[in-house]
Amino acid sequence: MQMRCKRQPQERWQITRQRIWQRDRGKCQGPYCQDYPEWSLPLKQAHVDHIHELSRGGRNDDVNLRILCRRCHCLRANHSHQGMIMGALRDGIIPANWREWVWEG
Ligand SMILES: [Zn+2]
Repeated sequence: MQMRCKRQPQERWQITRQRIWQRDRGKCQGPYCQDYPEWSLPLKQAHVDHIHELSRGGRNDDVNLRILCRRCHCLRANHSHQGMIMGALRDGIIPANWREWVWEG
């Protein structure tokens, strides 16, 4: 088992989440929210994204973490986020043509 690929234990992850959220001031770092510099997410709604994915050897270091909103997170390419996409479609977070909005980075 590769420890570096593991998620942090829940209690520790909550502390990490809060730290990243504070660092990014609750602002989504995704491409679709850059035009709204004043817009920030409450901690509960903020997604903490691994820039370099855990499954590909990414780490839980702060430099590898960033805040994304649910929509930008869903639409990020190369994620195995089928469940999240289905839920976001159902909730109207992303449009039916979401594939055209997928981004990389
Ligand atoms: Zn966003």
